[in-house]
Amino acid sequence: MRNIVTGNWKSNKLWNDAEKLMDDVATGILESQHTDVFVAPPTPYLAALQAQSTDLIGLAGQQCSAHLEGAFTGEHTASMLKSVGVKAVLIGHSERRGGFGENDSVVEVKIHHALDAGLLAIVCCGENLEERDAGQHFEKVLTQLSHAFQNVDTSKMIHVVVAYEPIWAIGTGRTASAARAQEMHAAIRKHLVELFDAPTAESTRILYGGSCKPSNALEIFMQPDVNGGLIGGASLNALDFLAIVAASNEAASKEQQGG
Ligand code: PEP
Repeated sequence: MRNIVTGNWKSNKLWNDAEKLMDDVATGILESQHTDVFVAPPTPYLAALQAQSTDLIGLAGQQCSAHLEGAFTGEHTASMLKSVGVKAVLIGHSERRGGFGENDSVVEVKIHHALDAGLLAIVCCGENLEERDAGQHFEKVLTQLSHAFQNVDTSKMIHVVVAYEPIWAIGTGRTASAARAQEMHAAIRKHLVELFDAPTAESTRILYGGSCKPSNALEIFMQPDVNGGLIGGASLNALDFLAIVAASNEAASKEQQGG
């Protein structure tokens, strides 16, 4: 299966720098045989950056509204993203869950809006440090996913990607070890078998996110249940992001060759 690498620029870069970063990334990706690449710039830039997106690099939204069109000042809907050429959207990022009231119910609604709009829904999950230290990390993540997917039809799962992002690893420089990432990814895949079925679980891409960088990307992506990454800080530097995409291509190519 093809990996996915998505860069999440968060609230970084003024327009001129954003345009240059997109240009540097788009011109740097000459081919990406085994990885679908997306970048999620700040929302105001999406429509303009569409001109620089190519078959090899698509745009993603960092979030979408839980509402449909109407009197919701400041919100943007999944359909609006779609209408300016966006292909994917992050849903339930821990910074949205923690800072903007995006609880499990809101996440669930947003997934349906994204799927109805024809977007790829990149659904984020992950435990905080307290939950990890208390040994509650599996329960936390699997409960988040049970809630998120409770009303998603199996046939729609082809348009869903899971991103496991331990909160204690986001932006901290503290990455989950490859073994820890694999352990959680395997648990997520097993859970998807229970929620859906084995073929669906097998074909759902599960990305790792949390201080992923060129120096650790290959080891993480080589894990059997890791299908790419959601990249924050390192996606703000074109060369770092391109190196991570290259690591994903290498890992996926080795996997296809059987190791
Ligand atoms: C993220 O916020 O999705 C993320 C993975 O950030 P970072 O790579 O900076 O840890």
